[in-house]
Amino acid sequence: MSVTPPFNPPTRILMGPGPSGANPRVLRAMTAPILGHLDPEFLRIMDECRTMLRRVMRTENDVTLATPGTGTSGMEAAVMNLVEPGDRVVVGICGYFGERIAQMAERAGGEVTRVQAAWGSPVDPEAVRAVVRSAGNVKLIGVVHAETSTGVQNKIEPFSAIAKESGALLLVDCVTSLGGVAVEADAWGADAVYSGTQKCLSAPPGVAPITLSSKAFDAVKARETPCNTWYLDMALLEAYWDGRRQYHHTAPISMIYALHQALALVLEEGLENRWARHERNGRALQSGLEAMGLVLHADEGYRLPVLTTVRIPDGVNDAEVRGALLKRNGIEIGGGLGDLRAKVWRIGLMGESSTPGNVLLSLSSLGKILREQGFKADTNAAIDAASERLGGA
Ligand SMILES: *Cc1c(COP(=O)(O)O)cnc(C)c1O
Repeated sequence: MSVTPPFNPPTRILMGPGPSGANPRVLRAMTAPILGHLDPEFLRIMDECRTMLRRVMRTENDVTLATPGTGTSGMEAAVMNLVEPGDRVVVGICGYFGERIAQMAERAGGEVTRVQAAWGSPVDPEAVRAVVRSAGNVKLIGVVHAETSTGVQNKIEPFSAIAKESGALLLVDCVTSLGGVAVEADAWGADAVYSGTQKCLSAPPGVAPITLSSKAFDAVKARETPCNTWYLDMALLEAYWDGRRQYHHTAPISMIYALHQALALVLEEGLENRWARHERNGRALQSGLEAMGLVLHADEGYRLPVLTTVRIPDGVNDAEVRGALLKRNGIEIGGGLGDLRAKVWRIGLMGESSTPGNVLLSLSSLGKILREQGFKADTNAAIDAASERLGGA
C-alpha cells in the first residue's frame, strides 16, 4: 500500500452553474514556472491581463484588475469599497446572488432597500425607479446581469437610465455573463462591474475581474471611513496593479497565468462569435428540453443562454437523477438554490462546456434517466429539436 492517498480527480463534463470546464491551454499555462510577483516578466503578464480585461469587459476604465479570490471577492470588493456606513443602497433582487449583494451592503453599514422579483422573473426597473425616487440621495444601485440561481438575464440599460437620472452609482454583477453574454461596461455606463474566472471565462475558480469607472473610483478615494476590508481595498489593489507596484499581496501567480490565457482565448475566438456560440447552444438545449416534455422555469424573453433552469417533473427524484448523470455519464448539472431547491435543475453551457456535443449528450442522457424514473421523456423529439437549432448555424 502506498504511504500517501491516491489522487485521481476524474474528468467530468461540467454543465452545472460553475465551475465550467477549463481549456487545456489555460491548464497548461498554470504549470509554467512560478515567477516572483514583482519580476518584470510577471509585471508584463499583469499589464497584458489588464489590457485584455478592458477589451473583454468593453471598458476604457483605468481601474481594471483581478482581485485574488473567486467571483465573490469581486462582489465584496465592489460593495465594500462603494458603500459607507449610512449610504443608501437599492438592490434589485431576483434570486440568490442579488440577495448576497444586499447582505454585503448591509455589512458595509449601508441602508439597504431590496426590490424583489419572483425567482424566475427579471427585476422590474420601474419598481427600482420608484424606490430610488422616494428614498432620495441613493448612493448605489445594484443588479445582477445573469442570475445564476434562476437562469434569468436582467436587461441593464433601464437600470443605467435610473442611475443616470438619480446620480447613483450602478453596480452590475457579471460573474456568469462575462465571456458568454454581451457585457458592455462603458456603453451601459456601469460604475462597477465584476466577474469570476470559473464561469464563461473557463479558467479555474480563483480570481475575479473587476472594473471601476472614474466616478466610482473617485467615490472610493473620497471615503470618510476607510474601507471595511484591507485585502480587497480597491485603492490599495490599484496601487499594486498600476505603475506604482506597491506591494499589497502576493499575486496568485498561476491564476494570473490562467486568466491571461483565458482572456487570450476569448479574444482569439472574438467576443461576438463567442456570444453567438453561447446563444446557439443555449437555445438548442432549451428547445430540446421543451421538446422532451419538460418546462423551462425562467420567463420567456429573459432566459440566459449560458444557464438554463428546468423544472423537475412531479414524481422524479432530484438527487437520483443528478447522481445517475454524474456516475454514468460523467455529467454534472446543478440542483436548485434557496427557494428553488429540489424544484429545478440548473444546466450550464459556459465557456468550454458550451458545445453542440454537450447539448446532445446531456439531452440523451437526461432523457434516458427520466424514463427510468417514470417520466415519459421524448428523447427523440428533444434531439431533433436541438439538432435543428444547432444546424441552423
Ligand atoms: C457564481 C456567482 C457568484 C460567486 O462566484 P464564486 O466564484 O462562487 O465566488 C456571484 N454572482 C453570480 C451571479 C454568480 O453566478
